[in-house]
Amino acid sequence: MTSSARPADPAGTAARPPLNRRLAEFGTTIFAEMSALAQRTGSINLGQGFPDTDGPEEIREAAVRALRDGRGNQYPPGPGVPELRAAVTAHQLRRYGLTFDPDTEVLVTAGATEAIAAALLGLLEPGDEVVALEPYYDSYAACIAMAGGRRVPVTLRPHEGRFRLDLDELRAAVTDRTRLLLINTPHNPTGTVLTRTELTAIAELAVERDLLVVTDEVYEHLVFDEAEHLPLATFPGMRDRTVTIGSAGKTFSFTGWKVGWVTGAPVLVSAVRSAKQYLTYVASGPFQYAVAEALALPDSYFEGFRADMLTKRNVLATGLADAGFDVFRTAGTYFITTDIRSLGETDGFAFCRALPERAGVVAIPNAVFYDHREAGAPFVRFAFCKRTEMLADATERLRKAFAC
Ligand SMILES: *Cc1c(COP(=O)(O)O)cnc(C)c1O
Repeated sequence: MTSSARPADPAGTAARPPLNRRLAEFGTTIFAEMSALAQRTGSINLGQGFPDTDGPEEIREAAVRALRDGRGNQYPPGPGVPELRAAVTAHQLRRYGLTFDPDTEVLVTAGATEAIAAALLGLLEPGDEVVALEPYYDSYAACIAMAGGRRVPVTLRPHEGRFRLDLDELRAAVTDRTRLLLINTPHNPTGTVLTRTELTAIAELAVERDLLVVTDEVYEHLVFDEAEHLPLATFPGMRDRTVTIGSAGKTFSFTGWKVGWVTGAPVLVSAVRSAKQYLTYVASGPFQYAVAEALALPDSYFEGFRADMLTKRNVLATGLADAGFDVFRTAGTYFITTDIRSLGETDGFAFCRALPERAGVVAIPNAVFYDHREAGAPFVRFAFCKRTEMLADATERLRKAFAC
């Protein structure tokens, strides 16, 4: 046969699409579509949550130093470099009074994203149910699917200006097949920080039904006003059934470094490590040393960072309200969720697809984070981890487009 006689459909992709059934519903993320739209239209991108300024200069220099000194340029140890594991445990102790053994109860990962994937791949059997708070961070559904689990959403619903967890709904979601609760607080995309009452109920349920808990706390340092971040691992009976996920990306404004970690009891961390070692094995060598220094920064860094982000939140919240959006109170994270029904709109997807042309701004329809799409239809998310001038410019554009 000559090459010109090659069949037109060599892999038989017409008969069987290449993407497997587990991932068929997760084509490409909304962020790719919206970022392309932002570029094409010259819009201000408040879609994806990454800062437009880098974190502390001294920490960037610490990474340069590590790289120059030849620390981390070759494969670091599988569990993470000792300096970083020690810094993670020191941080958990200093902030929350939690004690972990850096050798057996800490694992460094390629960002929180890998920690989530490895936790689900390491802890779930096919068919296990995972109860997760809806709307959810976009990798949760895909990772549960990759692990062969079944996701069972519990929907956070607006109540007096904040998204609230319905404790009866949470209880009702747990069955004999439930293996773990997947929690996220401070919560992306709603900006909710779970209250002591909500967390107590989660902890009691986990203990009563003997469930594991995986808790994504990457925004632990971004809580505002009266809200307080309470790690689930600090609640009675929780330390040894909880895998806590943290990350340097959001706390230190270096999202490209991809340094995350998990803490938990040795058997759980070991299960996560079993999966993690066959994903990336290790990552981010020199950055691990820099993040170890970052975690040891004085309280003034964390306070200054929080104050700066609070100012940004206020600029965006006020601007969105002036433009006519119904704005939910953001108690934590990088994000503000709005309700567009106050603008006479009902479909967040259509709204966000048209927004770049209409106003020169990009936002994300919260519906993409829901299984019950209709429950999220009128909600739209904006990120405020951007320079204040940029936020002011964006809200001015929105005001011109909507508030006349
Ligand atoms: C950004 C984010 C992550 C991913 O963190 P990386 O460290 O960048 O992988 C995980 N969970 C939530 C809720 C996030 O917002």
